[in-house]
Amino acid sequence: MPSFPRAARAAVRDATLRANLKHATHTIRDKRAKAVAELDDWAELREAGKQIKDHTLRHLDRYLLQLEEAVTAAGGTVHWAADADEANRIVTDLVRATGEREVVKVKSMATQEIGLNEALAAAGIAAYETDLAELIVQLGDDRPSHILVPAIHRNRGEIREIFARTMSAWGRPAPADLTDRPADLAEAARLHLREKFLRAKVGISGANFMVAETGTLVVVESEGNGRMCLTLPETLISVVGIEKVVPTWRDLEVFLQTLPRSSTAERMNPYTSTWTGTTDGDGPQAFHLVLLDNGRTDVLADEVGRQTLRCIRCSACLNVCPVYERAGGHAYGSVYPGPIGAILTPQLRGTTTDLDASLPFASSLCGACYEVCPVAIDIPEVLVHLREKVADRGGRGHRLEKAAMKASGWVLDHPSALAAAERAASLTRKAHPRRLPGAAAWTNTRDLPELPAAPFRDWWKRNRTS
Ligand code: SF4
Repeated sequence: MPSFPRAARAAVRDATLRANLKHATHTIRDKRAKAVAELDDWAELREAGKQIKDHTLRHLDRYLLQLEEAVTAAGGTVHWAADADEANRIVTDLVRATGEREVVKVKSMATQEIGLNEALAAAGIAAYETDLAELIVQLGDDRPSHILVPAIHRNRGEIREIFARTMSAWGRPAPADLTDRPADLAEAARLHLREKFLRAKVGISGANFMVAETGTLVVVESEGNGRMCLTLPETLISVVGIEKVVPTWRDLEVFLQTLPRSSTAERMNPYTSTWTGTTDGDGPQAFHLVLLDNGRTDVLADEVGRQTLRCIRCSACLNVCPVYERAGGHAYGSVYPGPIGAILTPQLRGTTTDLDASLPFASSLCGACYEVCPVAIDIPEVLVHLREKVADRGGRGHRLEKAAMKASGWVLDHPSALAAAERAASLTRKAHPRRLPGAAAWTNTRDLPELPAAPFRDWWKRNRTS
């Protein structure tokens, strides 16, 4: 992937994409604002969410061991995966052991992060996405562009075309007279998925939360497809980032209020599924929990960056971000787009590639993301922190900027040099170029301010009365 500015160039010129994104993000953000305004204690809930997450992260080792013990006692098996390769290997081996060649999946950011579908495909195992938006992405051989609505960049007409063209290659075809009415599209997806749910012996999920005290996993969703995956198969495998643990059921009280209002602007989720290990004769009879690190302990070690691990993946920050609204999600080159992606991806993957080093700069630092974040992650603070790290490492643009700052610092430190520079600038103002060489990205769309005929300090000397 190229750096963010280069990857975003095509997107910002795509009028259809921009219209799709603008319509979707503005609709969701307005609804969210109304849903949040209904609660008098929103600020307290936000602070409580922040404190629960910070407390859990401070004692993460303890809570993860407690979780492992509880899951095991309830009949589940816990696996620890240090990175994506290990997690993919564990899941592939678990599916192979069942003798199955296909799985159904609940929408899961963690499995996308590790590229699980691709790893399973390489092992000859087909993974079927069952979330409607994920299904659109999978059928369209596309990439997700939003945390909550992965096909946000598609409009109804495009979705109809994808269903009509590709569904038959994956299973039940779309009806011949499929229209682009949302109800018709949803019905086509429902019929297509139904046969997969009824056939699947293995389900794969993530989880929104894991409760340490009981070993319970929680998935919240709007469609009910997730619940089908969680209950019908004989084997359930959940891949979950280690930061998703909360100490007690009581803590869920906070997040089950803030998450739905921040994500889908609902007062509560239509489907909240919880499960604890296995139960004889009810639901999957084998349950495996794969606890995923994949860079998270490194994030935890960074005093500024660790607040990123509070994220509950609500996507509210994406919907208010002016950069995301124009560039879309693909330019971020990661399953985590938008403001959270700009701070999470470079911390999980490092900043050694052009793309990852450019992500902390994919922001105007307007602060809208911080305002809406239900766990009060100060995203601008982390962005600036990461920018410092990238700049400290060097790189062409950063070396030039550093040299310019050093020169400016010297001039500002020497008043007589500053006065001489100001006079010279005023005297030569007619000859100043309208565009600055080397800063075209900025000056091509902005006029340099005109300099006055004389510097302020000279005017002040002439006009001072006392
Ligand atoms: S950073 Fe905050 S607003 Fe953005 S997805 Fe995470 S919890 Fe939601």
